Order: sequence, then C-alpha cells, then structure tokens
Amino acid sequence: MGLIIRSSAIHAAGCYTTTAIRKGTRVAEYDGPRLRKEEADVAYEASPITYLFGLGDGSIVIDGHCMAMFINHSCNPNCETEEVRGRVWIKAIKNIAPGEEITYDYCLYDGGDDEAVCNCGAKKCRGTMYSPEEVRRRQAKAKKALKKGAKKQRSKPRAVKRVKALKSRTA
Ligand SMILES: [Zn+2]
Repeated sequence: MGLIIRSSAIHAAGCYTTTAIRKGTRVAEYDGPRLRKEEADVAYEASPITYLFGLGDGSIVIDGHCMAMFINHSCNPNCETEEVRGRVWIKAIKNIAPGEEITYDYCLYDGGDDEAVCNCGAKKCRGTMYSPEEVRRRQAKAKKALKKGAKKQRSKPRAVKRVKALKSRTA
C-alpha cells in the first residue's frame, strides 16, 4: 500500500494514499507496544500528545509506534478501526482515491481536562474528537460539578492523556 506522511489541513501531519484503496481494505495496522492502562496513565500523565489506542475493555492500550499513528481524526472519515484478536486495523469504509488523506473517527475517551477540539472541517463535525458517548459522560460530569457549587475539585493534576477507541466499543 502506498501510504505517505505529509502536512495536513486537519492537524500537523497526516497520512495520505498514493494509490486507490477499495472499500473494505485494511489500510494499516495500529501497532506498537502494549501497555496496561495504569502504566500508560503514569507514562503519559502530563504529555500533550499521546498515540494510545484502547484495546477491548480498555485495560490494555497500544502505544502507537507505526504509520497509522499519523492518521488524523475526522467526523466524516473514510476509514474505521477494527480489532481482531488483539490487533487493531484501520479499514477503508469507502473507496479512497489516490492523493486523499486517510482518516477515521478517534472516538476518544479518558482525556482529562483536555477539550480535544476537532478541526476536521466536515459538515457535520461534532466539534470534538471525543466519542458521542464520552461527550455525554463529560457533560453529565460538568453538570454534577456545577451543582456541587464552589467546591473546588482540582486536587488531581490536569491529565491530558487521550485514548482512541474502536467505534463499536462506544456504540
Ligand atoms: Zn470533526
């Protein structure tokens, strides 16, 4: 497969295909060392950039070290992720033309205070890279915090770790 990394309008660098890709094709594997969630929490507690991908129930994460780590998020993506026996693949959900940027929906969770603002430019951009379920969870949490009033809850350090997830995990 002809994948290249170059600058992207969505975010810094992106992953592009130089060849046509048929719908259903595995474009790349999201590969890298496997860490326990607790290990990743410690390692990336204050890191502004992470390339973590939660496997299964999220107790194990892949610390991305591969071509696929450069693939950007889009709310109207041309790929999705699938997990098969502990491995994660980026799979085309549309026919993709040469020169197009490869994207998938990150469905982020576990992002701490980070807003994870989305700049994908899609018509129906949801404004954030968090999964719809995570957005609801965060809104509920914010509401709860508001009800508690002036009680400050900033005992924990600001976490900015973000973890990507399968769409099916949060659907
Ligand atoms: Zn978007």
